[in-house]
Amino acid sequence: MPRLTIKVDPDLCIGAASCVTVAPETFRLNDENKAFVLDRGQEPGGPTYERIVEVSEEEKENIILSAQSCPTLAVIILDEAGNQIYPI
Ligand code: SF4
Repeated sequence: MPRLTIKVDPDLCIGAASCVTVAPETFRLNDENKAFVLDRGQEPGGPTYERIVEVSEEEKENIILSAQSCPTLAVIILDEAGNQIYPI
Protein backbone atom coordinates (compact mmCIF):
# COMPACT_ATOMS: atom_id res chain seq x y z
CA MET A 1 0.00 0.00 0.00
CA PRO A 2 1.34 3.44 -0.86
CA ARG A 3 2.47 5.49 2.10
CA LEU A 4 1.97 9.21 1.63
CA THR A 5 2.95 12.25 3.64
CA ILE A 6 0.10 14.71 3.36
CA LYS A 7 0.55 18.30 4.46
CA VAL A 8 -1.69 21.33 4.52
CA ASP A 9 -0.03 24.73 4.68
CA PRO A 10 -2.39 26.64 6.97
CA ASP A 11 -0.97 29.95 5.79
CA LEU A 12 -2.08 29.15 2.24
CA CYS A 13 -5.39 27.43 3.07
CA ILE A 14 -8.36 29.76 2.61
CA GLY A 15 -10.98 27.24 3.75
CA ALA A 16 -12.42 26.69 0.29
CA ALA A 17 -13.12 23.06 1.31
CA SER A 18 -12.58 21.58 -2.14
CA CYS A 19 -10.17 19.07 -0.62
CA VAL A 20 -12.82 18.08 1.94
CA THR A 21 -15.39 17.61 -0.82
CA VAL A 22 -13.11 15.44 -2.96
CA ALA A 23 -11.49 13.45 -0.11
CA PRO A 24 -13.71 13.66 2.98
CA GLU A 25 -11.99 10.63 4.52
CA THR A 26 -8.70 12.54 4.49
CA PHE A 27 -9.47 16.21 5.14
CA ARG A 28 -11.70 18.16 7.47
CA LEU A 29 -11.95 21.85 8.36
CA ASN A 30 -11.03 22.95 11.88
CA ASP A 31 -12.45 25.84 13.91
CA GLU A 32 -10.16 28.27 12.12
CA ASN A 33 -11.53 27.13 8.74
CA LYS A 34 -8.24 25.45 7.85
CA ALA A 35 -8.09 21.95 6.45
CA PHE A 36 -6.32 19.35 8.57
CA VAL A 37 -5.38 15.77 7.78
CA LEU A 38 -7.39 12.90 9.22
CA ASP A 39 -5.94 9.53 10.10
CA ARG A 40 -8.30 7.38 7.99
CA GLY A 41 -11.30 8.88 9.70
CA GLN A 42 -9.73 9.07 13.14
CA GLU A 43 -8.28 12.11 14.85
CA PRO A 44 -5.75 10.81 17.36
CA GLY A 45 -3.89 13.70 18.90
CA GLY A 46 -6.37 16.17 17.45
CA PRO A 47 -6.14 18.16 14.26
CA THR A 48 -2.80 18.08 12.50
CA TYR A 49 -1.57 19.76 9.36
CA GLU A 50 0.79 16.91 8.50
CA ARG A 51 0.31 13.17 8.66
CA ILE A 52 1.73 10.00 7.14
CA VAL A 53 -1.03 7.70 5.90
CA GLU A 54 -1.16 4.31 4.24
CA VAL A 55 -3.69 4.28 1.44
CA SER A 56 -4.80 2.14 -1.46
CA GLU A 57 -3.79 3.09 -5.01
CA GLU A 58 -7.33 4.29 -5.57
CA GLU A 59 -7.24 6.47 -2.46
CA LYS A 60 -3.85 7.82 -3.49
CA GLU A 61 -5.26 8.98 -6.82
CA ASN A 62 -8.21 10.56 -5.06
CA ILE A 63 -5.96 12.39 -2.59
CA ILE A 64 -3.90 13.75 -5.49
CA LEU A 65 -7.15 14.87 -7.14
CA SER A 66 -8.14 16.64 -3.93
CA ALA A 67 -4.78 18.43 -3.84
CA GLN A 68 -5.28 19.46 -7.46
CA SER A 69 -8.68 20.88 -6.51
CA CYS A 70 -7.14 23.27 -3.99
CA PRO A 71 -7.20 26.80 -5.43
CA THR A 72 -4.16 27.93 -3.43
CA LEU A 73 -1.99 24.79 -3.73
CA ALA A 74 -2.12 24.43 0.04
CA VAL A 75 -2.07 20.61 -0.06
CA ILE A 76 1.39 19.08 -0.47
CA ILE A 77 1.93 15.36 -1.01
CA LEU A 78 5.16 13.41 -0.69
CA ASP A 79 5.75 9.77 -1.60
CA GLU A 80 7.40 7.29 0.74
CA ALA A 81 10.85 8.23 -0.56
CA GLY A 82 10.19 11.84 0.43
CA ASN A 83 9.77 13.05 -3.12
CA GLN A 84 7.13 15.70 -3.62
CA ILE A 85 4.50 14.35 -5.99
CA TYR A 86 2.17 17.35 -5.79
CA PRO A 87 2.45 20.21 -6.55
CA ILE A 88 5.15 19.63 -9.15
S1 SF4 B 1 -8.95 23.01 -0.84
FE1 SF4 B 1 -7.12 24.13 -0.18
S2 SF4 B 1 -7.89 26.09 0.54
FE2 SF4 B 1 -9.62 24.68 0.45
S3 SF4 B 1 -9.76 23.81 2.50
FE3 SF4 B 1 -8.53 22.43 1.27
S4 SF4 B 1 -6.42 23.08 1.66
FE4 SF4 B 1 -7.74 24.74 2.29
